[in-house]
Amino acid sequence: MEQRVLRFETHTGVRIYSLPVEVFPQFYANVYLVVADGLVCLIDTGSGHGNSNNDLVAGFAAIQAQWGEKLSLADVNQIILTHAHIDHFGGLAFIRQFTQAPTAIHIADRRVITNYDGRLLFASKALSRFLRHAGVSAEQHQHLMGMYLHNKDAFRPQPIEQTFEDGDRLCNLFEVIYTPGHCPGQVCLRLDEVLFSADHILARTAPHLAPEMITPGTGLEHYISGLHQVAKLTGIELTLGGHEQPIENLAQRLEQIFASNQRKIDRISDLLKAQPQTVAQLSAAMYRGLQGYDQLLGIEKVGAFVEYLYLRGYVRPVNIAPDDDDRDPINVMYELF
Ligand SMILES: [Zn+2]
Ligand SMILES: [Zn+2]
Repeated sequence: MEQRVLRFETHTGVRIYSLPVEVFPQFYANVYLVVADGLVCLIDTGSGHGNSNNDLVAGFAAIQAQWGEKLSLADVNQIILTHAHIDHFGGLAFIRQFTQAPTAIHIADRRVITNYDGRLLFASKALSRFLRHAGVSAEQHQHLMGMYLHNKDAFRPQPIEQTFEDGDRLCNLFEVIYTPGHCPGQVCLRLDEVLFSADHILARTAPHLAPEMITPGTGLEHYISGLHQVAKLTGIELTLGGHEQPIENLAQRLEQIFASNQRKIDRISDLLKAQPQTVAQLSAAMYRGLQGYDQLLGIEKVGAFVEYLYLRGYVRPVNIAPDDDDRDPINVMYELF
C-alpha cells in the first residue's frame, strides 16, 4: 500500500502536512503537522509500536526534502491528541525525547493517558461483563479477554499539560468540536476551511463503535449526535481523517455514513424479527468468519447498535428474570419491541 506525505495550505496560509505512519502491521494512521506563525503543532503521535516512530521521523525528512520545511521533532512546540486510542497517542513517550511541547487532549480522555494502568483494569472488567451479557461462551470469553489485554502493558502513563472542551479555541487557530461516540474524548478540530475529523469520520470505513455499557461516552447515540454536529458546519472544503485519504465532499460522506448506520439497524431488526437472539449470535450472523481481534470488534459494534435500539425502545431483553442477587444478567436475548 502506497503511503506518502501530503501538503495542504489553508486560505490564511497555514501549512498542513499529513504524515502516514504504520501504527500496527499493515494499518496506517495520519499524523498531521500544522505550521503557522511560531506554531509547530503535531496532531496525534502514531502508536509507538513497530514502524510507527521511524515513519514519523521519515515523514519530517520527507517534508524537508520535498518542500524545504526545515523542521524536526525537536521543533514541535504543541501536541494535540484527537482522542485516547493507542494508535493516536502511543508515540507520545518517543516524541517527548525530542521536545518539551505541552500535550493537550479533551478532558474526558485525559485519564486514559495519565492513569493508564488503573483505567485499563477498570475497562477490562467492564468488557468482561459486557461479553457475558452478550452471550459469548466461557471459552470464547477467555480467548477474547486474552486478546484484549495482549500487549496493552507496553504503554506507561504520561502527564498531560493541557485539556480542552467543546467550543474551546486552541493555539488561537483550532476550534474544538466535541464528537464523542468512537471514544469518550473524541474531538474534531476546525482550522480555517479544513476539518481534522480524527476517527469520527473516515473516507472509506466506519470507525469502531462499542457500547456505552463498557465505557460511558462511547456508543451509537453519541456517535450519531456527533455526526449531526459536524453536519451543521459550513465552509468545510477539506476533511482530514485520522486514517485513510482526505475527504473532499464532507456532506456526501456524511450521507453515506448515515445510510450505512441505517443498513446495520435494518439488518439487526430483520434478524431479530426471525427470533430473539443474543449480541454474540447477531454478530456471528452479521460478520461471518471474523477471526482474532476483529471478532471482538464485531461483537462490540453489534453491542453498540443493540444498545442504541434498546435505549430507543425498539428492542427489549426477553430472558432477564427478577431475582434476589446483584449479579449482572448474562446471555441476554433481545427481541423486537
Ligand atoms: Zn480511534
Ligand atoms: Zn485510529
